[in-house]
Amino acid sequence: MAESTLRTAPPLWQADLRQAFRAVSDLLEFLGLDWRSAPFEVQRNPDFPLRVPLAFARRMRKGDWQDPLLAQVLPLGLEGDVAPGFTLDAVGDKAAECAPGLLHKYTNRALMLPTSQCAVHCRYCFRRHFAYEDLPKGHQAWEAAWSYLEQHPEIDEVLLSGGDPLSLEDSRLRGFWERAVSLQQVRTVRLHTRLPIVLPSRIDARFLTLVREMTARKTGVMVIHANHAQEIDEEVGEALRELKQAGLLLLNQSVLLRGVNDSVAALKDLSQRLIEVGVLPYYLHLLDRVAGTSHFEVEEARAKELIEALRLEAQGYLVPKLVREVQGEGAKRGVS
Ligand SMILES: *Cc1c(COP(=O)(O)O)cnc(C)c1O
Ligand code: SF4
Repeated sequence: MAESTLRTAPPLWQADLRQAFRAVSDLLEFLGLDWRSAPFEVQRNPDFPLRVPLAFARRMRKGDWQDPLLAQVLPLGLEGDVAPGFTLDAVGDKAAECAPGLLHKYTNRALMLPTSQCAVHCRYCFRRHFAYEDLPKGHQAWEAAWSYLEQHPEIDEVLLSGGDPLSLEDSRLRGFWERAVSLQQVRTVRLHTRLPIVLPSRIDARFLTLVREMTARKTGVMVIHANHAQEIDEEVGEALRELKQAGLLLLNQSVLLRGVNDSVAALKDLSQRLIEVGVLPYYLHLLDRVAGTSHFEVEEARAKELIEALRLEAQGYLVPKLVREVQGEGAKRGVS
């Protein structure tokens, strides 16, 4: 291929993203699962639509309704359950919005939401009800956010979140990352993303060049999101090793989910797998109490028991911090 063709061809990961499963029936067929044999009610056309990249679906066990990866993405009838305390804005994000697309909840950190897109739709996600229509569109619309950051020198870290910031194409992501790096007071730029897990082809040579350029200027931290060891196959492991080599500090956050990772063995296995590919376990979140997710909840007392048991049988660096987000508090609250 001539070099000019190489340069203009759209990156392969965008095709992978477009080809993600969007119909429940297609995903079930791929997995060799028959509606009629389902041990629970499955929604065919959920409001929060199904989205699962093929690379992620390939790591699911065929023919297994209880697969821990499938459980994170399959829309169940249980989502219709009304549970007390499970609300539409469970983490109180709206109150923290200080400029369009910018959340300033914790003193020295501000969180920017450059996109509402995710490569995967996680059923337990607190963003499933977020008012994304309000996100700024176009360059000019972000000026209020940047000027807020300039006027707040106490903010020394900018977090890019979403949605998933890696679902932006490189040129747009570069725009945000470069501008954050250029703020004088900023010492670290952090990206919260699940793409390296669910769409490892996103971590291509072009993206790694961007990472090297940015981390040469300011420290870069990437917080990935894996909930189960089975999510980290060889391809994902390779992508993560490359991100580390390109200069990022890699951390993982998980959500404690019933039927997915609510055992000491599953948590330990996940942490060990993360360490093998250069990622430090950071947070284990108690579920945000968002409408439609109550079937995933693990009780706080049980969560504490699990973490305590993990502490007894694993090295300290394998034990993530158990946290819960509490509305109006200045930091995530440790639970111990
Ligand atoms: C979680 C979160 C952060 C980052 O918190 P850390 O404890 O530093 O990981 C920042 N802003 C918002 C709105 C958050 O929800
Ligand atoms: S990738 Fe993250 S933000 Fe997107 S749906 Fe999953 S948990 Fe939510």
